[in-house]
Amino acid sequence: MTKKISTFLNEQRPATPCLVMDLDVVADNFRRLRTAVPRAGIYYAVKANPAPEILQLLAKLGSSFDTASVNEIDMALATGVAPDRLSYGNTIKKKADIAAAYQRGVRLYAFDSEAELGKLAEAAPGSKVFCRILTSGANADWPLSRKFGCDVEMARALLIAAAKRGVVPHGVSFHVGSQQRDPAQWDAAVAQAAWLFRECEDNGVQLNMLNIGGGFPTRYRRNVPGMPAYGAAIEESLRKHFGNRIPDIIVEPGRQMVGSAGVLQTEVVLISKKAESDKKRWVYLDIGKFGGLAETMDEAIQYPIVSSRKGAMTPVVLAGPTCDSADILYEKADYRLPEDLEIGDKLEIRAAGAYTATYASVAFNGFEPLKTYCV
Ligand SMILES: *Cc1c(COP(=O)(O)O)cnc(C)c1O
Repeated sequence: MTKKISTFLNEQRPATPCLVMDLDVVADNFRRLRTAVPRAGIYYAVKANPAPEILQLLAKLGSSFDTASVNEIDMALATGVAPDRLSYGNTIKKKADIAAAYQRGVRLYAFDSEAELGKLAEAAPGSKVFCRILTSGANADWPLSRKFGCDVEMARALLIAAAKRGVVPHGVSFHVGSQQRDPAQWDAAVAQAAWLFRECEDNGVQLNMLNIGGGFPTRYRRNVPGMPAYGAAIEESLRKHFGNRIPDIIVEPGRQMVGSAGVLQTEVVLISKKAESDKKRWVYLDIGKFGGLAETMDEAIQYPIVSSRKGAMTPVVLAGPTCDSADILYEKADYRLPEDLEIGDKLEIRAAGAYTATYASVAFNGFEPLKTYCV
């Protein structure tokens, strides 16, 4: 909780639930990443939090943007950055959307399949394309494995084919899984990428760019390594596998940039038990899975949740306000709240700046989407 956020909450008393973002923390996070991986171009993953104030700030600090749809491209361009600071990093795009991006001047695209390469060749001729490879997602709390990327043999064939299809085979990308708690997880993917660079070169295709994705963590309930540990591990892997021929490097941070900058304020709607003998109270909040806390799925992301009351901490099940039994936040993870907690109390859900406002449903059960304030 920063001074700016607590002052805003105390003075403005906004309706809950709401997300308050401290832009100074975003700027600090940007500088931390800049220092940790000085050789990398930073492409902020817009989906993590696309608040216009955040995009504006990052554009001013020199960030580029990784986008996943035409709307995200337009949000990034609205900051005034040139389209050469954008990548269209989604591997699943409609041809009409590729054409719309191309028309806006975007010339850097991801793909991981023959069919997507075909679409790019037709709708974005002459563009730079990079192929995403599979990773295991091991040690990540929110893995992005399986759905994205192809194996390296396929990537080799596709990159070599790309040159003959009127697009520029530019490089390789991967994502080691979001909220990646282990800095060593980049090594295997960097090794595979280096193999691909050599294989392509042997086939007359010169790759120039390696996109090492996002995955850098935010501190939730558990401690995580600091950015310097990630920077050092990545630099060592690059030197080990690429020697003195390290290509241009791109990173695509999402969570690391905005997670720690946001506090979500929520109100306790109901405290109850299912039987007199129950040890755990059920605490129902005015935000749940459909109001922005989708990453509590399987209790994967465990936000620190704080009450200002001083009573002894006793176990609770935390749930959202909607008429859906999937809307339970934490049942197995050991969450505790003060025994003197009352209906109407405000709680702070900390480190909630990433993947919350964008995940809020439009109006499930008539609840409004999560409102964001930037201070
Ligand atoms: C979501 C996403 C990111 C950001 O991931 P974080 O783990 O939040 O850093 C980066 N790149 C791509 C392609 C993504 O889809």
